[in-house]
Amino acid sequence: MARFGNTGWLCCPHCFDKLQMQPGLGRTLGCAAGHTFDVAREGYVNLLPPSGRAGAVHGDAEEMVNARRAFLQQGFYAPLVVAVGEMVAGVLPVDRTAVLLDAGCGEGHLLQSLCRSIRAGGHEIHAGGFDLSKPAVRRAARLMPDTTMFVANIRRPWPVLMASVDVVLNIFAPRNPAEFRRVVRRGGHLVVIIPAMDHLNELRTLVPLLPVSPDKEETLHASLDGFALAARREVDFGMSLPGPVADGLLAMTPNAWAVPSDARQQLRNRPLIETRAAFIALLFQRGASGLENS
Ligand SMILES: [Zn+2]
Repeated sequence: MARFGNTGWLCCPHCFDKLQMQPGLGRTLGCAAGHTFDVAREGYVNLLPPSGRAGAVHGDAEEMVNARRAFLQQGFYAPLVVAVGEMVAGVLPVDRTAVLLDAGCGEGHLLQSLCRSIRAGGHEIHAGGFDLSKPAVRRAARLMPDTTMFVANIRRPWPVLMASVDVVLNIFAPRNPAEFRRVVRRGGHLVVIIPAMDHLNELRTLVPLLPVSPDKEETLHASLDGFALAARREVDFGMSLPGPVADGLLAMTPNAWAVPSDARQQLRNRPLIETRAAFIALLFQRGASGLENS
């Protein structure tokens, strides 16, 4: 049975009090007010409040989760993992175990690769991740049994204690600047990866991909009250993608719905597509004092 990671920084989604493993209750997390949450067999916990569970489809569907795993595990984004791993390793505290939280972790492949590369450098980390998609979190938990994985909505208040995280990762996921500010310790960091303007340019000549918003970086900077830019790195690298793999890359993003199915079929029929991935990795530091209001 999968273990469940260090939970000292989780809080109850109802009352926001600290969550702890409940002695005598098996694999159950609970708060002082008596709200309890069972750890699933796969080693994750669903911390969506009941009001957030009803109705709408939650996060990425199984198909998109599978596409993301299938694409990433072939290692096409390895240069990005290396760059982000170096960025994170460079700011981790050296005198204690750091808490690393992947906000919008998807099926967890990137987090797993990052943890490997950071630990290989001799750093001690407690890693956690959450996503709105239960199929994604389930797969992430199976991949990383010693990691704290949970289902939560990134756009809502997170079930994470204030000032409890050393580094928040936000990779190809929605953003929540208020929660970044609340959960990252003073002096701690936030890593955001965004696509550069020329991301997948060659692929764009073949299929009508969703455009990259030209003001994305500026919008991001402007939204991050309480954080200062500490480092910026452009990461770009070539990829030779067999047609079906290129289609898989589309299938793991909102392009899955945006690109017409006949265009995707033509893409799948192509033998090999040479394209470049281009990202901007941004490292922000939470103001050590005076910058924030929480
Ligand atoms: Zn509670």
